[in-house]
Amino acid sequence: MCGLIEVMKWFLALNLLLVMSAFASSAVGFYTDGSLEEGGCIPAEGEGYMQLYRDVNNIFATRPLLNMITEAGREMNEKYPGRDRLQVEEMSASEGGEIDGHASHENGLDVDIQFYKRDGVEHIPTGQQYYAPSMVVGNAVSPNFDLERNWELMKTLHRHGNVQRIFIDTKLKNALCNYARSTGDFAANTRVLRSLQHQTNHQDHIHVRLRCPAGNNRCVPQGEPPPGHGCP
Ligand SMILES: [Zn+2]
Repeated sequence: MCGLIEVMKWFLALNLLLVMSAFASSAVGFYTDGSLEEGGCIPAEGEGYMQLYRDVNNIFATRPLLNMITEAGREMNEKYPGRDRLQVEEMSASEGGEIDGHASHENGLDVDIQFYKRDGVEHIPTGQQYYAPSMVVGNAVSPNFDLERNWELMKTLHRHGNVQRIFIDTKLKNALCNYARSTGDFAANTRVLRSLQHQTNHQDHIHVRLRCPAGNNRCVPQGEPPPGHGCP
């Protein structure tokens, strides 16, 4: 679990930038064949976010990933106060390595996150009565898919993390492309759109992947996604 010591480290790291280096996490190896050194974790709930599957305990990650989550939650909460929170799923095991149900998530740089839904339902955090409806129904995007907030989320994740890829179903990516065009937001966000990469089984959540953090010299980088926005 995310013990008192980890939580204290977290608050220290938040408040005292000078001690950040004392708790420097390290991603080691590749996303699908790696480990995590000095991984941290965050409280189960914070401003604008909540963490699901706490009982499974894959709640550990590198510091840049944890920072991205807390900052994105805070910023989304400021933009959309009083709405359902960012729902964070599994990250990595305490020392990384293989975890059930995921091919990657091994080096503290991968996290699964729920889409924002129009119905505003928050999951039960322990995994009982899990609520993850597909955002693709038949061949169409579900009316429950909150286009505005999900597009805002993609940009917000990029503002607070060195995001390389966001795995998402292609139908949902295309809907976000069209939404960005309709709001005049398209040209300025090629980098965000490029990161949205189709992956099967990503109709009910996204998977965010960060690049190797600076100074994590044993982290094995992945090639960049193809150039351009990748939109139809
Ligand atoms: Zn994942």
